[in-house]
Amino acid sequence: MSQDLEELQRILIEGQRRSMQGSYQRRSPAKPAIPFLLEARSGLKKYVEAHEDDDKAWRSLSQAEECLLNYSAALNCLEKAMDISGQRDKKDLKRLALLKEYEADWKQLNLTPAQLQALGGYLSQKLLEEGCDHTLRCTQEWLKALSIAKPKSVVDALRNRGGYCDCEVLNNVVGG
Ligand SMILES: [Zn+2]
Repeated sequence: MSQDLEELQRILIEGQRRSMQGSYQRRSPAKPAIPFLLEARSGLKKYVEAHEDDDKAWRSLSQAEECLLNYSAALNCLEKAMDISGQRDKKDLKRLALLKEYEADWKQLNLTPAQLQALGGYLSQKLLEEGCDHTLRCTQEWLKALSIAKPKSVVDALRNRGGYCDCEVLNNVVGG
């Protein structure tokens, strides 16, 4: 039996509250938020299997995917919700456009959410030991050590998101 939608939305809101992402911010959720977001997402996935025509549930699932930086999935769920409700209201269209923008940005960054988390762990450790020297030295070392493809384009994407040095990558891109 799937969980009740209101309960799942409460879990999602708790995850959003802890994520420190604000509205429409493109960085990883803060660690304390992750168990809530994952629980909400898995519950909502089960819920929509059983209630395919519930646009509210698809909207919530879209939000959970967005918080977890899965923009393609967030887009699909929002489109599904819009199809079901048969409405194309301004708020939805605006969100759809933003999600498309984030998806394109994410493709430029070319790191998986797991790789971004790993970069965050590496930078936290390095900055704790050595401090920030106002360059992307540690970020570049990490990209090199992992043989990440097209490191220069990753660095450009990090700069586009306000990551001009290692501590800014950690704070502005990776997040808490
Ligand atoms: Zn710095």
